[in-house]
Amino acid sequence: MINQAMFGLGDEPSAIRELFLYGLNRKAQIGNDKVFDFSIGNPSVPAPSEIKESLLRALEDDPVALHAYTPAGGSMQALTAAANHIKRVHSFDAKPEQVFMTAGAAEAIAICIFALTVPGDEIIVITPFFPEYRVWVEQAGCTLVTVPATQPDFQLDIEALASAINEKTSAIIINSPNNPVGSIYSEDNLKDFAEMLAAKEQELGRSLYVISDEPYREITYGEDVPWVPAIWPRTLVCASLSKSHSLPGERIGYVYVSDAMEEAREVSLAVAGAARALGYICASTLWQRVFAECVDVPSNVEPYRINREILTTNLRELGYEFVEPQGAFYLWVRALEDDAQAFSDRAKAHELLLVPSDSFGVSGWVRVSYCVSKKTIEDSKPAFAALMAEYQERS
Ligand code: PLP
Repeated sequence: MINQAMFGLGDEPSAIRELFLYGLNRKAQIGNDKVFDFSIGNPSVPAPSEIKESLLRALEDDPVALHAYTPAGGSMQALTAAANHIKRVHSFDAKPEQVFMTAGAAEAIAICIFALTVPGDEIIVITPFFPEYRVWVEQAGCTLVTVPATQPDFQLDIEALASAINEKTSAIIINSPNNPVGSIYSEDNLKDFAEMLAAKEQELGRSLYVISDEPYREITYGEDVPWVPAIWPRTLVCASLSKSHSLPGERIGYVYVSDAMEEAREVSLAVAGAARALGYICASTLWQRVFAECVDVPSNVEPYRINREILTTNLRELGYEFVEPQGAFYLWVRALEDDAQAFSDRAKAHELLLVPSDSFGVSGWVRVSYCVSKKTIEDSKPAFAALMAEYQERS
């Protein structure tokens, strides 16, 4: 007999992946340039040249050491590089022992969830939220509790969060810069959040952890992204090179368990235990090496800034409503009918692949990933215009 829950997850890919697969087939049928594929967050900027140079150097080294296992948490070089990166960028006293190297932010978040909860606990996420959170939270035997972000600025709703926290709450997952909305939580908003968490800890006699999901930290358009461990000590940061260095398929990232929390050692060991329990042996040795050499290499966000400018100008001109993104590379656009899936299906007929909002926990929006070529953004304007015209004719 097979596990029906696992069968279900395998049988029904995420809405993002489903649309992405549809796009691959459609492009094979009618040509790459005819499909405006805004489905997935695959960076369109090439990885920095330092990555290739680092890889080539690594390949010249002793192949036995190069391909060997590292300790479960990572090589000392990678752990030290991550800690030094945190020290340098955030002036925060991070120790290598508090870092755990992972196969991207996805593994990082999943193991944090398993490390911080027992079955029956609750984890709070902010809607709209990255759909895979639900899978990881539920597989840990926990309940996913959703709290909407404030409108129209998509910040943390402190009052609503306070009402949602109870004696079963273990952690709150936050994601800034945010996928799918592109918002960045302000320093003031995070300070209010921390103050509320401190009061709730007192009231409930229970530790409340923040899992700060940060794969888009480096992709911003002028705003600062506050360093959460400096604001709330019980923070676990999940980071990766997937988006910042255009390496999503290489699966390299880490968890940083804040040195500021009293029980930092115990939480780090629980993170290591969760990785062990889930069958992760160690992150890729080759990519840990590259990580150690390249984590400080700056990200090139200029192409995304240009795409964002063209796309928002075009959609504004055509009369679409959307959230002005402060970071990441997604545009959250109001669907032209309440049923986001129906809207996404209609968009498909114009070869526009827009992810419906339902799996992000809300109805009536679509996500447009603008990490595509500038030409795709430019060429898509007539399709967006035709889609708008179709709705105007209907009403
Ligand atoms: N968290 C968010 C909000 C994401 O958008 C993604 C990927 O798209 C991930 C986590 C997973 O990132 P990684 O490739 O580093 O595992």
